[in-house]
Amino acid sequence: MFDDKLLRALPKTDLHVHLDGSLRLASLIEMARERGVELPSWTEAGLCELVFKDSYNSLEEYLHGFAYTGAVLQDAEALERAAYELAWDNIDEGVRYVEVRFAPQLHMREGFGYSEVLRAVNDGLARAMREHETSEAVTGGEPPFRYGIIVCAMRYFDDRFSPWFKSLCHVLHESPDEHVYGEAALQLARAAVRLRDDEGLPIVAFDLAGHEAGFPAAAYKPAFVHAHEYFLKRTVHAGEAYGPESIYQAIADLNADRIGHGYHLFAADKIAAAKIKDPEGYCESLAQYIADRRITIEVCITSNLQTNPEIGSVENHAFRKMLDAKLSATLCTDNRLVSHTSVTREYQLATKAFNMTPGQLRNTIIYGFKRSFYPGTYAEKRAYVRKIIDYYDAIELGVR
Ligand SMILES: [Zn+2]
Repeated sequence: MFDDKLLRALPKTDLHVHLDGSLRLASLIEMARERGVELPSWTEAGLCELVFKDSYNSLEEYLHGFAYTGAVLQDAEALERAAYELAWDNIDEGVRYVEVRFAPQLHMREGFGYSEVLRAVNDGLARAMREHETSEAVTGGEPPFRYGIIVCAMRYFDDRFSPWFKSLCHVLHESPDEHVYGEAALQLARAAVRLRDDEGLPIVAFDLAGHEAGFPAAAYKPAFVHAHEYFLKRTVHAGEAYGPESIYQAIADLNADRIGHGYHLFAADKIAAAKIKDPEGYCESLAQYIADRRITIEVCITSNLQTNPEIGSVENHAFRKMLDAKLSATLCTDNRLVSHTSVTREYQLATKAFNMTPGQLRNTIIYGFKRSFYPGTYAEKRAYVRKIIDYYDAIELGVR
């Protein structure tokens, strides 16, 4: 057992956190008021009862809250503030490296495009980083806070929330289908590379988010090929709602460096392809392949429990098998607000449920730093990770 104070103090990462799912509730209310966005309740307790619940009956119910957060995050001030507060919420619980992800296209409109949206988010994160950098803790030797931005392409768009996507369909003279989704993803990949290279924004990776079922990876391949050609790293939401084949597609078709969730990696019963004659053996081989290539799984326990109620309890989560198979897996929050969680809380849940050893805890946390898409040279990344490990060990020994 690890006490909460220690788990908070240890330097940690969050490699999988959605900006629009991680607002402070008080800020959401305040920003909605300022912008005339209707909320179903104007108190924190009311919103927790109606929208941001402790448990959800379905994925649809889980996603409901994004309609409100998305509605307020439509201007630079709101995006900057949300990013700034998210960075500080992480710093305050010992997180020293975060990769914030979101889908820029959900926040765009006429005159407010890729660069405006991404600059605003970067401004907020950079402001928090600068403030932390000059704090007493850092000048006294603690490792500084660092971050990267991951842009998410969407497997599909809900027309109600994306005026930008509507206009894309209009331009292409097409109704929403796989081709249009693929085109939207490709445009995003191009913009991400351009803004990274021309403006120096720390856009470190390309992601594919949204429902897997019915939206296989193939349509998004050109976007991922573009990202790959320009050395933009790749992570893919896979194995969250769909089986092991979705994880395989992410790796084989989209060249994923990391997998978001990967929850169903060992779910032989979810294999659909008839040509796979031995589903158990397939899962075993896939897990070995992932382990050997050190493809890192971004594990989001609370979120998985909420969107797959059939899991029942933390003890039943596939993270147990990931630990046993010695996979490179690290814990993430997914959505701090929608899932009512924090990085510390995810480690509290996992260390207790899986009776993790100090070595397992250390590996799980350090994988996060080592397999991050750090926005610097490899030499800078190594120096940073070294500093983190020394600091981690000093805390563990009680020296700090
Ligand atoms: Zn996610």
